[in-house]
Amino acid sequence: MKLIFLGPPGAGKGTLAAKAVDLVKVPHISTGVIFRSAIAAQSPLGRKVKAIIDSGKLVDDDTTIELVKERLSQGDAQKGYILDGFPRTIPQAEALAEFSSADKVLNFDIPDAKVLERLSGRRVCKKCGANYHVLFNKPKKESLCDACGGEVYIREDDKEEAIRKRLEVYRDQTAPLIDFYRKKGLLLDVDARPGTDEVVKNFKQALGL
Ligand code: AMP
Repeated sequence: MKLIFLGPPGAGKGTLAAKAVDLVKVPHISTGVIFRSAIAAQSPLGRKVKAIIDSGKLVDDDTTIELVKERLSQGDAQKGYILDGFPRTIPQAEALAEFSSADKVLNFDIPDAKVLERLSGRRVCKKCGANYHVLFNKPKKESLCDACGGEVYIREDDKEEAIRKRLEVYRDQTAPLIDFYRKKGLLLDVDARPGTDEVVKNFKQALGL
């Protein structure tokens, strides 16, 4: 199954994707995770994108499209994928359609106030990318990841100014994809306001699993 997870930052796309991989048995491909790994490894890609990502802006389309095209050509993605955080612009969606056809696009529906609450309390594992929240999903040991023991930190782009910028970028550049995919008959709306277990149920229902 080839799925795209579309929604604002903080909608819970990554959290649901981590659960959904067991249900649909395809890899979870997050452009944000790939970029953050490149930054941690201080690779040429990481050095190129760090300042852009920290400020909450988007990496340029050519770089991002090339990265996804290469990732989707790998063996594990032949049976399908969950694309999380890509496409984020109309040119990215048009480019994707040239090298892969998604079966469904899940639109994570959530108001801004809820996004702000989630992002301002979000913590992320530096090593494996697992997500936590200071109120709703604390790691068992303070600042240490339950899954791998890595350090749990606040993403630079989860700071207030960057959050505002990311929401503005979402509205201007990514939200038009809702109509783009609705017109193609691929869009399924998922209520992303409740907690993870409920959202998993909504996801299964939307896909008839
Ligand atoms: P995310 O983890 O999906 O919130 O992504 C974190 C950051 O990575 C974004 O704010 C962008 O700077 C960059 N990024 C991730 N995916 C894309 C994309 N499809 N196009 C451009 N930039 C992206």
